[in-house]
Amino acid sequence: MRVLIVEDETKAAEYLRKGFSENGFVADVAGCGEDGLHLALTGDYELIILDVGLPERSGWSVISELRRSGKDIPVIFLTARDAVEDRIKGLELGADDYLIKPFVFSELLARVRTILRRGPLRQLDILRIGDLSIDLVRHKATRDNKRLDLTPKEFALLSLLARRTGEVVSRTLIAEQVWDMNFDSDTNVVDVAVRRLRSKVDDPFETKLIHTLRGVGYVLEER
Ligand code: CA
Repeated sequence: MRVLIVEDETKAAEYLRKGFSENGFVADVAGCGEDGLHLALTGDYELIILDVGLPERSGWSVISELRRSGKDIPVIFLTARDAVEDRIKGLELGADDYLIKPFVFSELLARVRTILRRGPLRQLDILRIGDLSIDLVRHKATRDNKRLDLTPKEFALLSLLARRTGEVVSRTLIAEQVWDMNFDSDTNVVDVAVRRLRSKVDDPFETKLIHTLRGVGYVLEER
């Protein structure tokens, strides 16, 4: 198993390299974004650990270039930045996970193993119903290859329906799973959210995918 570590802080890079070696990985270190990108494009790595703040080329630029050139190697971002928008940006650019410094190596290792286990089955993380495609890892949905602009709640709702495609999903279950509300809560929230979701997922398209079972719930399927 070969891992590429792109990290400019020598101490942190050495800590990572040592940790990986002790756990049976072969780890190479690149100390700047440019070297990291070069190694990632030319070397044969199973995984990349990528710092965001790097000299010459940021981690974001590295992953953008990688994905642009069709390299689908899993990437875990490692960074001191913990702002939510940074995390979302990393995932949107195609990172597989995001770990905030400081962290303990065992946590990183657990995440690495999860991602490597997913391995070639990664396409299972993409659900397809008709021309609707939902990427559960990268949190994005498209219809007819057009990106749907969904809020996190809308994405959660759509994923829930898609995971149970063809089944009626009750409003109670939706309320529980998406809003963490219990049975007695006002499920009107659900209806409003579904309406909004429909306006993005169904309204612009001829084939409707979200169907209502009056008084019961909703079903997502191609009819
Ligand atoms: Ca750095």
